[in-house]
Amino acid sequence: MNEDQVRVRFAPSPTGLLHVGNARTALFNWLFARQRQGVLVLRVEDTDVERSAPEYAQKLIEDLRWLGLDWEEGPDVGGAFGPYQQSARLETYASHTQTLLEGGQAYHCFCTPEELDQERQRALAAGKTPVYSGRCRSLPRDAAQERIASGEAACVRLRTPGQGELGFNDLVRGAVTFDLAVVGDPVLVRSSGLPAYNYVVVIDDVLMRITHVIRGEDHLANTVRQILTYQALDYPVPQFAHLSMVMGEDNSRLSKRHGATAVHQFAQDGVLASALFNYLALLGWAPPDGNEVLEQSELVRLFDLKKVSRSAAIFDYGKLHWLNRQHIKRLSGRAQAEEALPHLQEAGYLPREMTDAHWSWLEGAVAALIERVDTFADLKDSFAQVFDFSLEELGEEERSDLRSECGGKVIRSFAGLLAGIEQLDYAAFAEMTKTIKEETGCKGRDLFHPLRVALTARGSGLDLDKFIPLVESGAGLDFPIPLKSCSERCEAVMAYLDK
Ligand code: GLU
Repeated sequence: MNEDQVRVRFAPSPTGLLHVGNARTALFNWLFARQRQGVLVLRVEDTDVERSAPEYAQKLIEDLRWLGLDWEEGPDVGGAFGPYQQSARLETYASHTQTLLEGGQAYHCFCTPEELDQERQRALAAGKTPVYSGRCRSLPRDAAQERIASGEAACVRLRTPGQGELGFNDLVRGAVTFDLAVVGDPVLVRSSGLPAYNYVVVIDDVLMRITHVIRGEDHLANTVRQILTYQALDYPVPQFAHLSMVMGEDNSRLSKRHGATAVHQFAQDGVLASALFNYLALLGWAPPDGNEVLEQSELVRLFDLKKVSRSAAIFDYGKLHWLNRQHIKRLSGRAQAEEALPHLQEAGYLPREMTDAHWSWLEGAVAALIERVDTFADLKDSFAQVFDFSLEELGEEERSDLRSECGGKVIRSFAGLLAGIEQLDYAAFAEMTKTIKEETGCKGRDLFHPLRVALTARGSGLDLDKFIPLVESGAGLDFPIPLKSCSERCEAVMAYLDK
């Protein structure tokens, strides 16, 4: 291994779905690794047995891959420094604990939860920050061993200086210092025997040769405890970069109440992976030339960890949708149709088995409708305009437009003209409107509105120059919900008027 090689890691806990905050952390690690020809390690932090589930680990991997990330080492791809799942590394942690206990850098603590709680309450009552008093620090090792042998429960704590300052240079936040008097001796191994996150993360980062730890700012307080652990183990400390939190537009921590937060949900909502990728990269970082619509390769070239902002990043759904529209425009017609298909199949508009004719119709339909939507899932509503033709659901205004004097005359005249036509195209339709105008004396809104309502069963929507060819070319195809031709629509309206 090249000693200077950058090695970063993304270390999710499989306790839920991948949300955008974590995905942004993964993505910044990925960008940093790629631009430094480094290695990205995926490590599953599943020591919290009660909250972790293998299904979540699997889903995290799927969501990261959907987003377009890859990694050189991880539970699914292997690597020289595995296993990459903490639950499979317990022996390694135990041997480190032994070394620390033997060297006196760690000690057994027999304080019960009740005693610790009393200590905490006393500190709080005195207006002080609760810090472990260090009551068991000076217990001789053999005395501690005897108590353990007799079955007494104990946790293992790190012996820390308990005073002075500890500082480090954060790549995003600059100089950071902590007062060790308020840190206390952190628990390394709980009395249940399970090692604590703050402890195992250090061992893993060292053994996996991690050079840069890029993670959320919510870990800042952990970092001081972790640096103390590196020092106790006499291991080199990596560089740290703490990313600001992702907030909702009201400046509170982004949560479901603001909208979708899980990557999986964005995929389901029809946001392109390339757009979400692009958007996440902009959460706390801005490209130097102001052009924000960027593909992966451009982001790898331009991204600069040192330019990442310390202020909270605001998740702006409107901007994500704007970016999504930009990324959609960059796709070929066929690729747009492919992205749209699952959403339209799910809505029941398109068949599971697509013929070439379906594909070419779909491409045309998506091209006509895509400009008006933010996401592919929104296309379902646009397709409803084309497929759903229900006169029963007409609005009050549309109904009276059809039943007005001009409405009736216009529709009858239109039906007469349509009778002689095999397939309507927009040019022929435009010619017909002139004839209808002459025949009926109706013009302007009185002429066009009844025609629109008769063809679409709606008062507004797609322009008829796009709508007519779409309906006419689709009417001959086999769809789960048959697509009515213009003549069929007009006939239905005639029958409706005669009722
Ligand atoms: N497993 C931790 C989490 O999901 C991340 C640990 C780290 O990045 O150091 O929050």
